[in-house]
Amino acid sequence: MKILVVNCGSSSLKYQLIDMSTETLIAKGLCERIGVDGHFEGTTPDGRKTENDNLLPNHKIAFMEVKKALTEGETKVIDSLDEIDAIGHRIVQGGALFNDSVLVTDEVKKGIEELIDLAPLHNEAHLQGINACQEVFGKEKPEVVVFDNAFHSTMPPKAFIFPVPYEYYEKYKVRRYGFHGTSHRYVAHRLAEILGESLVGKKVIVAHIGNGSSLSAIKDGKVIDTTMGLTPLDGFIMGSRCGGVDPSAITYIQAKEDLSPAETDQMMNKKSGLLGISGVSSDLRDVEDAAANGNERAKLALDLLYYQLTKYIGGFIAALGGLDALCFTAGIGENSASTRLQVCKNLEYIGVKIDEDKNNCSGKEVEISTPDSKIKVFVIPTNEELMIARDTKEIVENL
Ligand code: AMP
Repeated sequence: MKILVVNCGSSSLKYQLIDMSTETLIAKGLCERIGVDGHFEGTTPDGRKTENDNLLPNHKIAFMEVKKALTEGETKVIDSLDEIDAIGHRIVQGGALFNDSVLVTDEVKKGIEELIDLAPLHNEAHLQGINACQEVFGKEKPEVVVFDNAFHSTMPPKAFIFPVPYEYYEKYKVRRYGFHGTSHRYVAHRLAEILGESLVGKKVIVAHIGNGSSLSAIKDGKVIDTTMGLTPLDGFIMGSRCGGVDPSAITYIQAKEDLSPAETDQMMNKKSGLLGISGVSSDLRDVEDAAANGNERAKLALDLLYYQLTKYIGGFIAALGGLDALCFTAGIGENSASTRLQVCKNLEYIGVKIDEDKNNCSGKEVEISTPDSKIKVFVIPTNEELMIARDTKEIVENL
């Protein structure tokens, strides 16, 4: 079975074609600047590549480009779209409507549309992607939607209700939903496989640390809390997002700088975090380099990252009532040995011990804790696309 996994943003479309008999990648690519001018890049694992700057006025034309790359020319991997059995879409916001992945129907599309208000930047683009996909692949091709917040739907109300007037929850569904759920779920599943036992009876924290970052506290295999909230802004310092800040500090800055709500959003999402503190970059590698060269604000940004991570992990250990395993994933979690080292050193007081040689790894699945560490610590590279493909396969096989 071959599954196409797609992630549609307002001006982008990322795809992976996966062979589910071996769970291996057949081809992948990216359409960028959709609706602006257009750039397409498609590659295959054996090193073939196609690239062009053809105009991409909308998602339908972008999908036509994907079709061309998969079925013709240098990167041809299939004879026709008939060889693709189903399509899996990543959807950022499923609200409280969707707790699981589902087959796309008109009713499901209506549900995603109703949630546009909660994720205006994402859900509208996802819907455009689903519609465009149906036009290019045909309505009879099964499409499945996999929601970013679904894995967090097991949180109890004490973790997801914000202490603002309850009527806003009732009227507008304002609450913590959490994101990166597909990544947290993949890592939790992988952890169970590595341990060779189910996560029932286990207390686990998954630290997804990348440009966007979130932690999840997982008890008995179910999320009991997560750091992101109504939007992917809450939690700890990220690349260019501020994470949790005294809400009054934001309204104070807004008034002083005469910022509109949209400008305030821009400030919190695009100008804050590692970038805002260091003034150097939102990319951790640049910040680490600058700090190594003596840049004091870059050092401060790193201090904040290590400190906030420690503080939030500590909070989740308390929420879980202990910890059996800590898993690092995503760009920083998988690659930054120094971030892992600093955070694990801060956790020595609860019995975390890591082997520094093993920790000096990048992008590989490794147990980095020592045999006598009270808490097991792992680096587990995430694979959201594979998780989406697995869900899609399961749903399609049971049709
Ligand atoms: P993601 O959003 O998961 O793609 O993660 C992007 C983040 O991972 C960026 O801040 C990168 O600087 C960081 N990253 C990727 N590779 C490395 C590396 N080798 N060392 C440190 N940070 C890295």
